[in-house]
Amino acid sequence: MTSVGTKDSIQKVAVVTGGSRGIGRGCVERLAEMGYAVHFNYNRNEEAAALVEKGLSVQGFRVLSRQVDVTHFDQVKTWIADIRQEEGRIDVLVNNAGIIRDKALMLMSQDDWLRVIDTNLNGLFNVSRACIVTFLKQKSGDIINISSISGIVGMPRQSNYSASKGGMNAFTRSLAREVAGYGVRVNGICPGFIETDILNDFSDKDKQEIAARIPLQRIGAVEDVVRCMVFLLSAQSRYIIGQNLVVDGGLSL
Ligand code: NAP
Repeated sequence: MTSVGTKDSIQKVAVVTGGSRGIGRGCVERLAEMGYAVHFNYNRNEEAAALVEKGLSVQGFRVLSRQVDVTHFDQVKTWIADIRQEEGRIDVLVNNAGIIRDKALMLMSQDDWLRVIDTNLNGLFNVSRACIVTFLKQKSGDIINISSISGIVGMPRQSNYSASKGGMNAFTRSLAREVAGYGVRVNGICPGFIETDILNDFSDKDKQEIAARIPLQRIGAVEDVVRCMVFLLSAQSRYIIGQNLVVDGGLSL
């Protein structure tokens, strides 16, 4: 594993949204192991966030969490400004925080629609907007947006979520072109079904049925997404920008 921060070199800095659980937690852990100082936020789950922060800190990693709701533009702005002041740089942003409120459109409330768009799409804007000037001034950086195959293929009962993730995929392409000349790379990852709390509403039987529909015959692990993030941050992907890489075991084929 490449180390990006040793005693003799400047430690690089990563920001992960929604790092208290699931895919975000996996990203935080791997980035810390890769040598990044990692700052992550969470929304409500202080206990889970403290577990991640403490678990990594006792191993000697620099990992700091803060309660910041990504839907609040000013809270996000202050959080990122504080990181910038404390660390002097930001090298990686993983836009991961996201929610689902799955319902058939005929049963979907305005609140179901607004909360998903606000978290998944407005949150993406708020955090990216707060970080972008730092990246442009540094003339380097990587933004990785955790999207979903729902942003590419039609998933019933997810019109709110699909709209948010489709918007995210378009945002990734647009921003990638806008900032490539500054040495900043923007890419996305589109997972299929990944075993995290987001699937808590699915019964074991549901999950078995889903797994049977996946060509690789299993629901994905957080590690499957984390490996894609590592690839997108590495020199192996240095000529790739604006792509939304599908990590779904073949489900959307
Ligand atoms: P998860 O286990 O439910 O974790 C969601 C994370 O986002 C938590 O850390 C949560 O914080 C945070 N979060 C939610 N709303 C927030 C807000 N308003 N402000 C700040 N943080 C907020 O979800 P996951 O499965 O890891 O999903 C992570 C991302 O992957 C999402 O964008 C999701 O759409 C995407 N994805 C997941 C799957 C899947 O099958 N798991 C598939 C495709 C795409 P708290 O702990 O405080 O609640």
